[in-house]
Amino acid sequence: MGLQCGLVGLPNVGKSTIFNALTKSHGAAAENFPFCTIDPNVGIVEIPDPRFKNLCKMIGPKSEVPAAVEFVDIAGLVAGASKGDGLGNAFLAHIRQVNAILHIVRCFDDENVTHVSGKVSPADDIEVIELELILADIEQVEKKIQTLVRLVKGGDKEAEFQDQVLQKVLPVLKDSKPAISVDLNEDEIFAIKELALLTLKPVLFVGNVDEDFIDKPQTSPHYIALEQAAKERGTYVVPICGKIEAELTQLEPEEEQTFLEEFGLTEPGLNRVIREAYTLLGYITFFTAGEKEVRAWNIVRGALAPQAAGEIHTDLERGFIRAEIVSYDDIVSNDGMKAAKDAGKLRVEGKDYTVADGDVIYFRFNV
Ligand code: GDP
Repeated sequence: MGLQCGLVGLPNVGKSTIFNALTKSHGAAAENFPFCTIDPNVGIVEIPDPRFKNLCKMIGPKSEVPAAVEFVDIAGLVAGASKGDGLGNAFLAHIRQVNAILHIVRCFDDENVTHVSGKVSPADDIEVIELELILADIEQVEKKIQTLVRLVKGGDKEAEFQDQVLQKVLPVLKDSKPAISVDLNEDEIFAIKELALLTLKPVLFVGNVDEDFIDKPQTSPHYIALEQAAKERGTYVVPICGKIEAELTQLEPEEEQTFLEEFGLTEPGLNRVIREAYTLLGYITFFTAGEKEVRAWNIVRGALAPQAAGEIHTDLERGFIRAEIVSYDDIVSNDGMKAAKDAGKLRVEGKDYTVADGDVIYFRFNV
């Protein structure tokens, strides 16, 4: 697993409210994810997936393990955070390791909740955070370029290429634009991967809107402004109302639906945030399903069958023979795994097979 999303945002935008609601309502049992970090700022969050629930219902396994993503609450980003000694080490360590960033932006008006710059303005708020990340990246890139000088002089080809890429990135950063806006090919991105540039990570904006707007966010001027800003950056926004999400965590499951309906919602906003974050990371889900355990696994889109097997155990990848696959849809339309197999829906795939979202897989291996 090891998928991590970092939550950033100015103070008082509702970041802690959303992080707490996330971990309370979707928190996964940590013992199933031994590789995850144990840290109060890190929450392991289950990916809400009706297919997983349905498979569990059909099979009734002894153990159920959903797919999960780690969310990291990254505190400490304010205007000027990158000045002086630079961003704190703990902060940098956290944010550099995340795969994607969820940028929480305040779109709610509430005179009881002060705004750090005195007024709610999504476009300005985004720029403040972005600038801090850009400044941190500039420092990082300049440092690296300095260390490359000697190697480049010495004719080191790898260093030369890395230097070329960084010289392409630096002026863009200095122009206050994120590194992700530089047109880099795969080799170039790979060459500078070790720098873990903050502004090279994909960003999803989360608009924290007033409860009155949650069922029609497009009528909120703040939300419209945020959507525009997101569009300019080639990404998009998921609306949420931190207040509603916090209240939801206090309710019994049977009260949840009625409460959501009062606001014109069909599911908690967090469900969508988690799903979109997962998609943003470029991940899909495959399942393993037996009477002992039904489990959902993360895999990067485009991964081949042996790689998927390796997610479960390195032995399965090393000794991979074949994958026996029934798709989730075939299981549902045939009312069960056995009936689907009897109907000829079992496919046997080899090591060149690209795993599809919703594949239910049994791996044959030999070590
Ligand atoms: P953080 O500094 O970004 O972590 O912000 P917090 O989560 O601590 O929230 C700051 C204040 O805003 C708290 O008093 C929250 O109760 C309040 N708040 C959070 N979400 C909402 C919301 O959707 N609407 C309103 N009106 N207040 C909210």
